[in-house]
Parts: sequence; structure tokens; C-alpha cells
Amino acid sequence: MDISSVRLLPRKEESLLRFHPWLFSRAIASTDGELYDGCLVRVESHRGEPLGVGHYAEASIAVRMLSFIGNEEIEPQFWQARLAAALQLRLACGLLRVDPEAGSPNNVYRLVHGEGDQLPGLIIDVYGDTAVMQAHSMGMHYAREVIAQALMQVYQDLCGPEVIRAVYYKSQGTLPTREQREMCDDGFLIGHTEATPVWENGIKFMPDWLRGQKTGFFVDQRDNRALVEQYARGRRLLNAFCYTGGFSLYALRGGAERVDSLDSSTKAMYLTEEHVKLNFGQCHRHRSITQDAFAYLDEMPQGEYDMIILDPPAFAKHRKVLRNALIGYRRINAQAFNKIAPGGILFTFSCSQAVSREEFRLAVFTAAAASGRHVRILHQLTQPIDHPVSIYHPEGEYLKGLVLQVE
Ligand code: SAH
Repeated sequence: MDISSVRLLPRKEESLLRFHPWLFSRAIASTDGELYDGCLVRVESHRGEPLGVGHYAEASIAVRMLSFIGNEEIEPQFWQARLAAALQLRLACGLLRVDPEAGSPNNVYRLVHGEGDQLPGLIIDVYGDTAVMQAHSMGMHYAREVIAQALMQVYQDLCGPEVIRAVYYKSQGTLPTREQREMCDDGFLIGHTEATPVWENGIKFMPDWLRGQKTGFFVDQRDNRALVEQYARGRRLLNAFCYTGGFSLYALRGGAERVDSLDSSTKAMYLTEEHVKLNFGQCHRHRSITQDAFAYLDEMPQGEYDMIILDPPAFAKHRKVLRNALIGYRRINAQAFNKIAPGGILFTFSCSQAVSREEFRLAVFTAAAASGRHVRILHQLTQPIDHPVSIYHPEGEYLKGLVLQVE
């Protein structure tokens, strides 16, 4: 296949030789052929040796590498091979089982986690028999049809017929520029399914890929939710920034005395209540609070809760706003340390990619120190197996959490 190419400045190939999937525009010396946002491009060293193939973008990350094989053809077989590798990983770690009623607890998982699955710019979450696909680059947007076809083929080959019956495309919120988002139509690429409940560790959720945030559900907290269940027995718990109520449901199943779910969005609180009903029917141990978390934490009395979960949205989408983000983390954590009952357990998270593990820990440390209470780290948490991180792309590790005991 004849595609355009970019040639690097001398010594700028090193990160690509180490499989880092991003090529920055400042590393490019010259270009050959027509380049447009989303086109395929071959990357060459300054001497003209082919280093791999990727998707071009008019942005500071100029190329997202799809392959480090010099002239690899990006054809249906390429997508099938990548998707098959991703699916095999999820099968190998026991995440993907098809019949939850027969005792298999999960049928919601991330099939493709961008760079971690060597598919930069692409996210695919699976909800039962529906795959929800999200493009974060124009290259993946243009490839959506061929990727959807490849996905159907791979499931057919590895799992059998009808395991996936539809592929929904949802990129209106995720393409890089406003014009791109405006020209993008969300909708089914293959088949058509209605949302039905999915299972996570045996807990039922109703995914909402049409209207929900991200692909409809936060798949990345599965393991951490299970840990909350272990600590919940007999406790009075606040789940702040609850969205669909994930942590609350596990806490209720774990025997919490009381669970208060809080989110500033009425839609989120509606989803949480629906999920409580779906799993527990009328539940007098659960209460919904629609309010700003900062205000609620400021106002709530001391000792009201002996377990608090803080899982806010990404406060920093990029490094430029890092300082404000760290102030935000410090502020909510300080309130939790001030208010939590003696012996309380705090689960605190950051999902900002721009905030490093160390920076987050420092913000929490500063908040703890200001409270003057003794605090111990019980667990250090991260993202689950279906959100793998390429060792060459540490930027892919975004979810950080600490479980703390406050004396
Ligand atoms: N813990 C959730 C995911 C949290 S997503 C889970 O396990 O699925 C972040 C949530 O924070 C969103 O639902 C958003 O509506 C809510 N949110 C954002 N800013 C908020 C604020 N200031 N106060 C309360 N909730 C807020």
C-alpha cells in the first residue's frame, strides 16, 4: 500500500525503537505525500529506514503508532490480529465468561484499552452482547467500520456465534476538535440491541451507552469495588462522586449498616437508585444525596461516617491545570480526614492521567498532615487487568487509589 510518510530528525527515532507509541511533531524533519488528520502514515528515520506505521494528526502528538514493523499493511487482518490478542488476554485472565446465570460473575469488561492493547486512540467496552467503541483520534474514526467487522469475526472465531450481536459507535464526546465531534454521528455500526442488565462480580448494572458518561459505565473500578465490599460490614458509608452507584452496591452487599450515595448530577443519582432497586429492591439502608461534594463534605458533621469513598472526575485533563487539580484533591481529602470517625477507612482515588502517583500521594499526605490524625496506608490501588499498561508507555497508567485507615 502506498501511503504518505514522515521523516524524523536525526536521533529522534529512539523512543520509537523502544515502542513508545507517540511521535511528537517536533521530531519530524520533513514529510512526503498528502497528510491530513487521520491518514495512515509511514514513519522513517532520518536515513529513510521505515520504523513503523501510524495514524497522523495535526496536533502535538503527530503520529500514534499502530505498528513498529517497518512497512506493515494496515488491512483487515491487522485489526483482527490486534483484537484477537486483546480478547485472548481477557479470556486468559478469566474475565470474560458468557453465562452469568450459571455462576460466572462478569460480562462487562474493557476489550481494548488504547495504547495498552497496541491500538492508540481506540477504546472498546463490552456490555453483555454489545460492544461500545470510542475513537479518540480521526484515524480510528475513519477505521471504525473495518474495526467493527474485524471485532465480529474475532468473537465468532474465538467465542462462537452470537456472543457479540452489535457494535455501537460513540465518539461525539471524544474526538479531538469541536468540528470533528460535530461531524461525527453516534449509532450502531453493526446490529441493534437494547440495553439489558450486565453483571460485574455478580452485581447487576444497567448500562446506558446512549446517554451515559464515557461508554456508559466505569469499568475500571471493578477490583476496587470488590475491596470496598470486604471492608463494608457494619459501617456507615459515604460514596461521594457515585455516578452509577458502583461502590454503594458492593457496600450494601458487604453488609454496610448505612450507605449514602452522593453526586451533583440528578441523572447519576437516578441511575444509582435504579441500580439499588435492581439489586436489592426497596433498601432502607441506602440514601441518595444530590449535592456538590465539596459543599457536603464541608458541612457534614464529624463522625457521621466510618467509611468514605472519594472517586472524583479527572480534576486535571492536562498538565497545565495540575496545580488546581492538586488543590482540589487536597481539599476533599482534608475534609474526609477531618470528619471521618475514629478507626475509619478512606478509599481515595484520582483518575487524572496528568497527575502522577507520587503527586497524588503527596496531595493526600498533605491533607492527612493538616488533620493532625494518624493515618496508615492499607492498600495502593490501580486499574484492573482489562486496562493494561504498556511498559513503554507509562502515561497509560491513570487510575491511582489509596485505602487509608484513620485513627
Ligand atoms: N465512582 C464512580 C465514577 C465517578 S465519575 C463509579 O464507580 O462508577 C465522577 C462523578 O462525579 C460523575 O458522576 C459526576 O457527576 C460527579 N461529580 C463531578 N463533580 C462533582 C461535584 N463537585 N460534586 C459531586 N459530584 C460531582
